[in-house]
Amino acid sequence: MSTLLIRNAEVIATFDDHGRRLTRASLFVRNNRIEWIGPEPEGCVADKVLDASGMLVMPGMVKCHHHMFQTLTRNVPRVQEAELFPWLVHLYEVWRNLTPEGLYWASVLGMSELLLTGCSCTTDHFYLFPQASPEHLFDEQIRAARQVGIRFHPTRGSMSRGKSCGGLPPDACVQSEEKILEDSERVIRAFHDPDPLAMVKVALAPCSPFSVTREIMRETVQLARRYGVRCHTHLAETQDEDAYCQQTYGKRPFELMEELGWVGPDIWYAHAVYLNTAEIRRCAETGTGIAHCPVSNLRLGSGIAPIPEMIAADVAVGLGVDGSASNDSSNMLGEVRTCMLIHRHRTGVASITAERALQLATRGGARVLGYPQLGRLEPGCGADLIGISLQRLGYAGALHDPVAAIVFCGDSHIVDFNVVNGQVVVENGRLVNVEEAEICHQANRIARQMVDQATRATGVDFLSKEGAGLFTPRPAAQQV
Ligand code: ZN
Repeated sequence: MSTLLIRNAEVIATFDDHGRRLTRASLFVRNNRIEWIGPEPEGCVADKVLDASGMLVMPGMVKCHHHMFQTLTRNVPRVQEAELFPWLVHLYEVWRNLTPEGLYWASVLGMSELLLTGCSCTTDHFYLFPQASPEHLFDEQIRAARQVGIRFHPTRGSMSRGKSCGGLPPDACVQSEEKILEDSERVIRAFHDPDPLAMVKVALAPCSPFSVTREIMRETVQLARRYGVRCHTHLAETQDEDAYCQQTYGKRPFELMEELGWVGPDIWYAHAVYLNTAEIRRCAETGTGIAHCPVSNLRLGSGIAPIPEMIAADVAVGLGVDGSASNDSSNMLGEVRTCMLIHRHRTGVASITAERALQLATRGGARVLGYPQLGRLEPGCGADLIGISLQRLGYAGALHDPVAAIVFCGDSHIVDFNVVNGQVVVENGRLVNVEEAEICHQANRIARQMVDQATRATGVDFLSKEGAGLFTPRPAAQQV
């Protein structure tokens, strides 16, 4: 039994059904749940007290899409200007050198950045199982999450269509269907905890319609439903993908997935940039969720997802940061800001508010990943919450609306504290369970190793743009 008192916050933004904000209030946690929020009773004591004077306290954010192994290949010069398909083709040559140690440190790095920028619960989409790597690679991510202290809902991804079968990845990076299904079942049995406030849950996630067969899509969702776990994949990210699906299957990506049984409240898609009005309506009718990744979509020039239209149709929408190689950071609060900005560009300044963008990152993410007791601060809910000091230069002059201030303003996205499941994992803006210097050292060392190996094996200098020759400017992107 442990207790935690968050004392005297300037504002507590609850993100409850009424959007209540409490001024100069406190919050009490017993074990892993919130017990009360409001004025502090006289003589209140707790095992641990955090002074939240001058801070905004709000729910820890819930993030719906990422590929943490890619933190080791961000900002690779060779693909800084590449669109999705050539970007993938090049980076697979680097990623095929991933080791269990590399995945562990990449995950520690991604999770640490997320905790520091306000995320308390995250998924990860890990689909890269090089044939040369040892068995049970996936387990390294669980080990990382336990070390860092983040709530984790990873997905066991898969790729089964290598280049020789018309897919994009090299054959050395794909697995047989038997192997994929066998290991998927193993990780569910080993790690999935159905408790609503579990620290580890597992989902299954074939990479995309262009990297697995239809059979593996169908069998994966059947396996997941036998065990009551969720399913995830990329969908409708680019126009290239649309063209690929039309040519290969004679269908739009969403049509293909619906035919394979991939709609429902246990399914969520990353991106959904090119869903049309009828497909948005189908997502709402079936409860299918969407992970919106605005920075990645801008970074790769993929387009802007019709999120205001999805919100209007009551589709479950959360935010993701996507792979760090297509975002180059794992900054959750930064993603919220970009989300607000890009929809103002696409559909007008009134199409999304700062608070709505934060709702996507809190309640929205909790809905998409299936945590009814997260994403809001209410008695009985899970104790995942963050505190951000408003006493910073970036927020000065902006405190007329302290909640919107953290989206509109600020030159730092670092939180002062992050509490996950009742445990303090960031305090005074620093990680509690891991050393930042050690993470940087290990990540830089392994990242360089992977790029050097790829250069030696392919003869392509990944540190140079010279002769890349793939990328030409094109007219402004068309939206469907
Ligand atoms: Zn992705």
